[in-house]
Amino acid sequence: MINFQYTRANDVADAVRQISADSTAKFIAGGTNLLDLMKEDVEQPSRLIDISRLPLTKVEETASGGLLIGALVPNSDLAWHPLIAQRYPMLGSAILAGASAQLRNMASTGGNLLQRTRCFYFYDTVTPCNKREPGSGCSAIKGVNRINAILGTSEACIATHPSDMCVALAVLEAKVHVAGPAGERIIAFADFHRLPGDTPQRDTNLNANEIVTALELPAQGFTKNYTYLKIRDRLSYAFALVSVAVGLEMDGNTIRQARFALGGVAHKPWRDTTAEAALNGQAANQDIFMRAAELLLRDAKGYEHNAFKIDLARRTIVRALTQAAQGTPQSQSNKKIA
Ligand SMILES: Cc1cc2nc3c(=O)[nH]c(=O)nc-3n(C[C@H](O)[C@H](O)[C@H](O)COP(=O)(O)OP(=O)(O)OC[C@H]3O[C@@H](n4cnc5c(N)ncnc54)[C@H](O)[C@@H]3O)c2cc1C
Ligand code: SF4
Repeated sequence: MINFQYTRANDVADAVRQISADSTAKFIAGGTNLLDLMKEDVEQPSRLIDISRLPLTKVEETASGGLLIGALVPNSDLAWHPLIAQRYPMLGSAILAGASAQLRNMASTGGNLLQRTRCFYFYDTVTPCNKREPGSGCSAIKGVNRINAILGTSEACIATHPSDMCVALAVLEAKVHVAGPAGERIIAFADFHRLPGDTPQRDTNLNANEIVTALELPAQGFTKNYTYLKIRDRLSYAFALVSVAVGLEMDGNTIRQARFALGGVAHKPWRDTTAEAALNGQAANQDIFMRAAELLLRDAKGYEHNAFKIDLARRTIVRALTQAAQGTPQSQSNKKIA
């Protein structure tokens, strides 16, 4: 274990001041990802700035009919919050599909966005990894890449973003509120996470001296026709091989508006407006769902151990769209146990 200093932030301005003063410092919220990374020697912050006591724990209604969710609302509290259950059930289902009850009790909203990839080599400090050590190479491309990405990859990195919650947030078109030395700004969810390109060490467009303060959800919550479908190696306590979040506005059997996003397949939640447009105005049926899946996966590229994900993603998209169009209830969010 490395030596590090520990301080607490008194308020958001103090948190920004402290992180701006030390480029090797890191915020700690629930600690469920960061502490593991420190134990494995992947992250070596000189200082931990504890933000867990900041007053960012409210879920409030906005004037435009949406919600503002504080960055420190625990994942469990958010999933079971009455306003989430009533207005954004897809988000609740996605959160409850992740991790375990104990982890969700500790994990924060902001931390979930900023959790790092689960690529095996990222955690294995004796192997080259461009994300951990820029310029060292990517061990996954020719290595064991079963859990890695099939979309939006680069020659530098084929990692995936592991969050379930973020896949639903992509469909809901959430906004990320952040604060930094220059004041506050809002980042559209689609612009928050990055593709690896030739800078895979940067997961997001959050600057190193900024803090996430809140998430804003627009009013549209897709309360009737939605689904979050996660395919994984075990039924719980496992990251997605492929997941699909769907929100549909239906008029009888006709799709008025479709949104869907994939998790487990790319460096960020993967949405494709061309594939969504192919569904709008169409009757809901297997043929049109298959066409949308083919469109979304048109540039998918498999590696030695993960090519199966392309067909898995195709079938998962069709099943998720079918469930959502039929208004199939989500058992996950109706159970109070993990
Ligand atoms: C065994 C295990 C299984 C898991 N399974 C799943 C799963 O299936 N699906 C899933 O989605 N997740 C899963 N997770 C991940 C879990 O959801 C994340 O670890 C958690 O959401 C991170 O939140 P945290 O508050 O603990 O973050 P921390 O560990 O405290 O921080 C994570 C990162 O975010 C930064 N950070 C935290 N808050 C802020 C902020 N407000 N502003 C700026 N930076 C910030 C920290 O500096 C750090 O870099 C799993 C985790 C474990 C350990
Ligand atoms: S895929 Fe990315 S995280 Fe994994 S070894 Fe390659 S560079 Fe590292």
